[in-house]
Amino acid sequence: MNVRLGSEVANATDDVIVSINPADGSVAGTVEATSPAELDAVVERAWTAFRSSGWPTLLPHRRALLLQKVADGLAAQKESLAQLQMADNGKPLGECRGMVDSAIGTFRYYAGVCETIETDVTPRRGDYLSFTLLEPFGVVAAITPWNSPIMNDATKVAPALAAGNAVILKPSEDSPLLAPELARIALAAGLPEGLLQVVQGRGPEIGSALVAHPGVRMISFTGGTATGRAIGRVAGERLVPAALELGGKSPHIVFADADLDHAVAAVVAGIFGSAGQSCVAGSRLFIEASIYDDVLARVVVRTKSLRVAPPDAPGVEVGPLASFHHRDRVHRFVERAREEGGRILCGGAAPAGDEFDAGAYYLPTVIDRLGPEALTCQEEAFGPVLVALPFGDEQDLIAQANGTAFGLACGIWSDNFKRCWRVGRALEAGSVWVNTYKQSVTSTPFGGFKSSGLGREKGIDGLRLYAQVKSMYFGLHEQPLEVAR
Ligand code: NDP
Repeated sequence: MNVRLGSEVANATDDVIVSINPADGSVAGTVEATSPAELDAVVERAWTAFRSSGWPTLLPHRRALLLQKVADGLAAQKESLAQLQMADNGKPLGECRGMVDSAIGTFRYYAGVCETIETDVTPRRGDYLSFTLLEPFGVVAAITPWNSPIMNDATKVAPALAAGNAVILKPSEDSPLLAPELARIALAAGLPEGLLQVVQGRGPEIGSALVAHPGVRMISFTGGTATGRAIGRVAGERLVPAALELGGKSPHIVFADADLDHAVAAVVAGIFGSAGQSCVAGSRLFIEASIYDDVLARVVVRTKSLRVAPPDAPGVEVGPLASFHHRDRVHRFVERAREEGGRILCGGAAPAGDEFDAGAYYLPTVIDRLGPEALTCQEEAFGPVLVALPFGDEQDLIAQANGTAFGLACGIWSDNFKRCWRVGRALEAGSVWVNTYKQSVTSTPFGGFKSSGLGREKGIDGLRLYAQVKSMYFGLHEQPLEVAR
């Protein structure tokens, strides 16, 4: 048997993937890899399930019952799923519990959407009744990253099933353990066999084979922008829709008139939660010039006080990064900031101490004195790294804040309502948080402007993403129809 550790060893003949616990380097679990040769059978099974299970024609309120049962199954195993996710990708246990809650809420929400979503009876322009229907695509590929497995899996699987599709889920090989659990729970809840299958393996192998497979009719992807572009190219060539939720370099903005205690707390939580491994992490801090030194000093003090610890330690605030190779990538990013002239105000290294030696830990890092054009102000670190920049007036702020390829999210702290409105409208971002940060609920659309993605997940439109509109005309005329002109 050939064995592979996360994505650190690439070998196309490997058939077992070992998930390494980044807290201590131990083995969290193993899964069988799917070979590209097996993919045809997986896709065939999905189509068979789609065509023969009755799922796509099941009345939506009956699909809703099943989705509720999946939510019940997740709820019944919340603690073990949270523990598994903690071992799989190193997130603090409290965050992992929150992710399972989010997944449960997502299944319940899409059960509700099934019950309530409406289509249109369109204005008549002739002797007929015209209306729209939502039809599933058939087989949908859902490709998810390693940072929040169960939550991201649910964000795609629940609405795709709610719309009547069969789903093939491909998790990251760095966090492969949760997706099979979700599939097992769904099956136990009564989802017909084959409607939710999981394929495992490296993205460039099994992931790209899935994207290119002629039996896959729609692709939903969350991950890095470079991978998203590659998937978008293939989807464009194949003319299948692709929903892409990609990276960000989100500006978090503090004006001088803000409630600074709240702002500073949110800035620190907004970047260092999940050890910065969040697409909406507020990784660029913009502080109005008149309060720059004061606010930055407070951010640094608070950052230094964060409790970096193993993910199950009491009071842990920052756990390890999801993998050792990712920790090294984050460190290279910080080294590059140093070379670009950045001043490291705290962090910039792995923490010292026996409890950290075997894990993929990295200290929360704050950097300033970089120009907005520096590569490290433009590219995503996807780790616990915050760059601080001063701004003068609103125009200067908006030019700087919009000056990256990304447009996922932003935060604005100010007590001036009209300013929040102006700046919020001017910023190129899919989500704008005013006097709050990183709220992201299943009932509100989520997605990016510019290179942060295409399409909107969550909300009622999160179901429409997985459906195609069919227009129907029912003739009402008593007389033979004239040829349309
Ligand atoms: P990727 O975009 O490479 O991975 C995301 C998912 O896509 C994984 O399941 C991966 O599989 C799969 N994948 C990789 N290549 C392909 C491909 N050619 N075709 C189909 N699927 C593929 O992210 P990384 O893990 O490499 O992280 C790189 C950067 O992306 C991060 O540093 C961060 O900047 C960003 N990122 C953004 C996320 C977000 O939430 N928006 C989440 C994760 C990363 P596998 O892992 O098995 O190779």
